[in-house]
Parts: sequence; structure tokens; C-alpha cells
Amino acid sequence: MEIKIENLTKAYGDFKAVDNMNLNIADGELVGLLGPSGCGKSTTAALLMRFCDAAAGHIYMEGKDYHSMKPEELRKHIAMVPQQVNLFSGTIRDNLLLADPDADDETLMEAVKEAGLLKFVQSLEKGLDSDVGNAGASLSGGQRQKIGIARALLSKAEYMIFDEATSSVDPESEKEIWETIGHLAHTRTLIIISHRMSSVRSADCIYVLKDGKVAQQGNHDTLMAQDGLYRELVVRQQAMEVAE
Ligand code: ADP
Ligand code: MG
Repeated sequence: MEIKIENLTKAYGDFKAVDNMNLNIADGELVGLLGPSGCGKSTTAALLMRFCDAAAGHIYMEGKDYHSMKPEELRKHIAMVPQQVNLFSGTIRDNLLLADPDADDETLMEAVKEAGLLKFVQSLEKGLDSDVGNAGASLSGGQRQKIGIARALLSKAEYMIFDEATSSVDPESEKEIWETIGHLAHTRTLIIISHRMSSVRSADCIYVLKDGKVAQQGNHDTLMAQDGLYRELVVRQQAMEVAE
């Protein structure tokens, strides 16, 4: 099981958001995608989810070209938790069943538990049948993200992308979500996109993107030993954290 990105390019007009990118995601690995805002991380995620198609190059999942797979088929294997999870008005159950319409209560509650939402759901009078409000308005940002995680889990995808999944939640939820992601790393292949350098420190491979290209790749120690963008970003972030 692996995903291979080969010479991938995605352009908006003349501007290449992803520019001749090569990247490997091996089975069971935790892969980090880092880089400054606008470097092409979310575009790469969208290409991996096949929300859009590339202008040139290929993506292969287990040797199969993405173009030979239907998007629905592909998304049984790869799921994403975006920066802001979209919920629709209805109950928690309705929102979860979207990922697996046949799931029974036990399966739903397992996903809820794994996503770190068990206590919350149990505290609700109506449990899974509680209304989430207009587009999830009655939930906190952290709770919405966790429902997104539960949904991704229900899809049973082997690959999960987290695209800045904790950037809009409170610090406590952020900590909990990172713990959840840490657990998931034991059983899934994870692609973690984050502006926080420390969150991908333990990744098997970190890809540092710049202007749609892979500028550097390697694990934390390898990248810190190089005089490059990664070390620069880590040092800059540490300085900012000290200043806070
Ligand atoms: P990141 O997630 O690393 O911050 P993105 O992949 O979202 O970066 O964006 C990469 C670049 O592509 C940015 O310069 C962004 O402005 C541009 N871009 C993204 N989506 C579009 C779009 N739909 N139309 C035009 N430009 C876009
Ligand atoms: Mg982004």
C-alpha cells in the first residue's frame, strides 16, 4: 500500500500552485507536509482527494493511476479532515451516516469514541440524535472537527489527511485532537498538514514545500542538520513562541 505522486502540476491560469511535485507516502507512515502559507499544501490535499485534477503528472494508489479510479472508489481509501469540517443541519447521527449509511449504533459510537467525542455525546440527553444546529452552529469548533474525524474513521479509509485540522479550535481541543491523531498513527497512514512545525516532528518523512515544489524531505533530525527552509521555519516558530 502506498501513494506515489509523480511530476504533478496543478495550475490556476499561469500560476502553478503545485509545480512538478514528487512525493511518496508509504503504508503505515506518518507523512508531514509543511511550508509557508500558499506553498501548495491544500492544493496537494485536494489533488490527493481528487477534488480537482492535475494539469500534468500522475498520482498512483497501490500502483493504480488515479485517473483509472472513480472518485467514490478512491475515497473509500483516502479521507480528509479539513481546516473547517462542514456539517449540515440535522443530528450528529445524520452527519456521521454520511460516511457510512449502513453503520449501526455500535459502529457509530466506536468512531465517536476514537474521535474523542464519547463523553460529549454521552452528556447529551438525546445522544447521537441531538441536533447540531444550523451547519453545526450549536457545537464548538473542536466538537465539529471531532465529528469530522469520526466521519473519516467511519469511511474506513486507510489513508487520512489532516489539513490544518486543529488551526481553528481552542487549545484544549487542539491537544485532544493531536492525541487522537497520535493514536490513529498506529493503524493508518496519515498525511499531516500543519503550520505548527512541532506537530510533525515525529513524522517518518516530512516534505517541506516551497512555491509548489518539494524543497526538502527527510525526518526531523535529518532536516535540522541541513541549512535549509525547515530549520529556518523551526527556529522562526520557536522565537515566536518564546515571544508570546
Ligand atoms: P497552502 O495550503 O499551502 O497555504 P494552497 O494550496 O491553498 O496553499 O494554495 C497555493 C497557491 O494557490 C496560493 O497562492 C493560492 O492563492 C493559490 N490558489 C489556491 N486555490 C486557488 C484557486 N481556486 N484559484 C486561484 N488560485 C488558487
Ligand atoms: Mg492550506
